[in-house]
Amino acid sequence: MAETFDIAIVGAGLAGLVAATEAADLGRRVLVLEQEGRQSLGGQAFWSLGGLFLVDTPEQRRLGIRDSHELASSDWVATAGFDRPEDHWPRRWAEAYVAFAAGEKRSWLTAMGLKLFPVVGWAERGNGDGTQGNSVPRFHITWGTGPGVLEPFLRRVAVHEATGRIVLRFRHRVDALVRMEGAITGVSGTMLAETSVGRGQSSSREVVGDFAITAGAVIVAAGGIGGDQGLVRQNWPSRLGSPPAQMLTGVPAHVDGRMLAIGESAGARLINRDRMWHYVEGITNYAPIWPGHGIRILPGPSSLWLDGTGARLPDRLYPGADTLGQLTHLRRTGHDHSWFVLDQQIIRKEFALSGSEQNPDLTGRDWRLVLRRAIGNKAPGPVEAFKAKGADFIVTDDLAALAAGMERLTPDAPVGEAALRQALAARDDSLASGTDAQSVAIARARGYLTERLIRVAKPHALLGQRNGPLIAVKLHILTRKTLGGLETDLGARVLGADGVPIAGLYAAGEAAGFGGGGMHGYRALEGTFLGGCLFSGRIAGRAAAGAV
Ligand SMILES: Cc1cc2nc3c(=O)[nH]c(=O)nc-3n(C[C@H](O)[C@H](O)[C@H](O)COP(=O)(O)OP(=O)(O)OC[C@H]3O[C@@H](n4cnc5c(N)ncnc54)[C@H](O)[C@@H]3O)c2cc1C
Repeated sequence: MAETFDIAIVGAGLAGLVAATEAADLGRRVLVLEQEGRQSLGGQAFWSLGGLFLVDTPEQRRLGIRDSHELASSDWVATAGFDRPEDHWPRRWAEAYVAFAAGEKRSWLTAMGLKLFPVVGWAERGNGDGTQGNSVPRFHITWGTGPGVLEPFLRRVAVHEATGRIVLRFRHRVDALVRMEGAITGVSGTMLAETSVGRGQSSSREVVGDFAITAGAVIVAAGGIGGDQGLVRQNWPSRLGSPPAQMLTGVPAHVDGRMLAIGESAGARLINRDRMWHYVEGITNYAPIWPGHGIRILPGPSSLWLDGTGARLPDRLYPGADTLGQLTHLRRTGHDHSWFVLDQQIIRKEFALSGSEQNPDLTGRDWRLVLRRAIGNKAPGPVEAFKAKGADFIVTDDLAALAAGMERLTPDAPVGEAALRQALAARDDSLASGTDAQSVAIARARGYLTERLIRVAKPHALLGQRNGPLIAVKLHILTRKTLGGLETDLGARVLGADGVPIAGLYAAGEAAGFGGGGMHGYRALEGTFLGGCLFSGRIAGRAAAGAV
């Protein structure tokens, strides 16, 4: 006979762990099934930068940033671009989530011991015209990055594990949701062979047994599709042109999307599967952890951005402005790659790398290391390491050598020294004029003290200056987030094809499009993914606990 629990949760990422702790706090007996080994507990969140979208916080106010629930709501709606009938629940989740980010989110997290880095970052900067992007800085980095976000929940899980209220089973892969008389009554799956691979590395899929579990409720918290380039290409929307032939992978292989298809075959409605959030500033990791591992540069606004033909991107698409706009533009150029061209002064301040392991100062909560970001001529250690070892970096004092290096990396699409010089000169001229969108964005950013001190270089010409070596970086498209997912109502109940909740089935985190089946619409304001897991995991855990 199948073992019985009050609640079974598929996936021990952030959303699954939040749901488990909330349900266990309410006295339910919870089983968490995870296909990876214990060493990968926490899923993607461990690797994340721990950036959280928060609105009107003491951190913002201390820096003179004036934010409000209303401003954040209007930024969200403008950026999401909801335009489909199936955006009904995503819209409602978006409203609820922004209210959470402007309300209880910060106090709930800090009461559990989470601490925020006092400098608020500015992601998806937009053009300051309210048509898209964050009007003000809102990206709050967790002190301790992704592991720091997980910490309070791992602590709570450990307490419940000790009493047996939460049971974690690793190397248990769910292959089916059991449906009887219309209701989900449990899960079944295969046991995978023990593994000793490192955290985040691909593990074997050798099957050593099977299992079946009966549960009063099942919560799917199994992540998105970004680890499977085949699925990404299959779901690639034609409005973005053809899918890239070559791209990097920004998430571990366990982000395999299998559970979405399993949910669908059990009758759940999967919506907005063509909405995805991939980055255009990916670089090849010289020390990969998972297959095709790429790292995202979180760029400041000053680099020159050239497409694969050597043409400058429109100035409104300056670095850090509009991820989807840039992706749409670049997919029309006929090339999978593009280029940042910059100098030492810009890289030093403006290249941040996304990922806990790329930010040892913030992850290790080391103030001494953090302060080094503000002094000297060098970029942070991990950025300097990419300069020295990264396959996509060309660093030289000489423009001809820079062009030759670029040609070596893309022999089929040479930019050439003359065209490069012309593009740099045009960029320098337009920045000197101070009127193009890129210079306006730089000035807008430098209006904030912290942006000026550690994030945005003083405007300067790239040609004929002595600001350290010139640098060209070949950029790749990098898979990351799945914006669509299992459609859920505001109680995290998964809806069937007829729009009616399927009894016993809930979804949370990336598997649920971070709430509703896609609360971001087409575009994200950033820092909203971890937050979406926290919010939807909390709702799913409480709702399932209330129902069983
Ligand atoms: C490098 C990096 C940086 C990031 N930075 C940020 C940031 O700063 N801010 C932000 O908001 N977001 C960020 N994100 C995104 C964010 O981390 C993820 O969207 C979020 O953690 C997803 O959590 P999840 O619990 O929904 O899914 P996951 O973390 O993917 O966890 C799902 C778990 O389910 C398991 N699973 C899947 N299928 C099955 C099955 N059939 N049976 C059993 N187990 C299964 C998987 O193995 C996995 O452990 C970043 C992501 C990465 C990779």
